[in-house]
Amino acid sequence: MIKAITFDLDMTLIDFMRIKKNGSYAAANAMVKAGLKMPLKKCYEDLFKHYLTDIEGDRVFENFLKSKGSYSERILAAGINAYLKEKENNLKTFPQVKETLLKLKKKGIKIAIVTDAPRLKAYMRLDAIGIADLFDVVVGKEDTGRFKPSKMPFKKALKLLKVKPSEAMHVGDWPERDIKGAKSVGMKTCLANYGYITHKMGKYVKPDYKIEGFEEILNIWSKK
Ligand SMILES: [Mg+2]
Repeated sequence: MIKAITFDLDMTLIDFMRIKKNGSYAAANAMVKAGLKMPLKKCYEDLFKHYLTDIEGDRVFENFLKSKGSYSERILAAGINAYLKEKENNLKTFPQVKETLLKLKKKGIKIAIVTDAPRLKAYMRLDAIGIADLFDVVVGKEDTGRFKPSKMPFKKALKLLKVKPSEAMHVGDWPERDIKGAKSVGMKTCLANYGYITHKMGKYVKPDYKIEGFEEILNIWSKK
């Protein structure tokens, strides 16, 4: 019997790549207009690469401009402002996320977030999409200092939820992190296949379930 479900945040509840891609494009465009001497396409591609290596970084734009020998506050300001504006427009859940979470809660299922993101950033994203108050527990980077697939973030969430591993399921988009970690503590696992991007890191770990849309979680639950 599943009593609790833990969710990964980025690419499971939120289409994070869309934010980063569209945000990087808007920022590149604004920086080139503000005087950055680079072809737009190259600027976008390089900036996006910087983001992928430092996904939660607060100084991505600054570091990017410095790496190009083109740092100026004028250009930096244009980039940051364009990015933030675009981010706000793109910060959305995948379809049916809120509706499905509400249905799970109605069934008495406890729900939690287990993310590698810092807790404040996780809450900022959850708040922006209007689902911050639905979660019983949010476990972020600073709770254990360990990243998935470490067992620690999962154990921490289970402890706070007061459920045994066998009573819980984790839903995430990253087999080598989400599925591997949750499986190793004895939880059931579900791959959010719609958010899955091959990372080619380590060995693919097979989940117990796979969903192509968020609302399919309800089908799994009813089987339990
Ligand atoms: Mg993820």
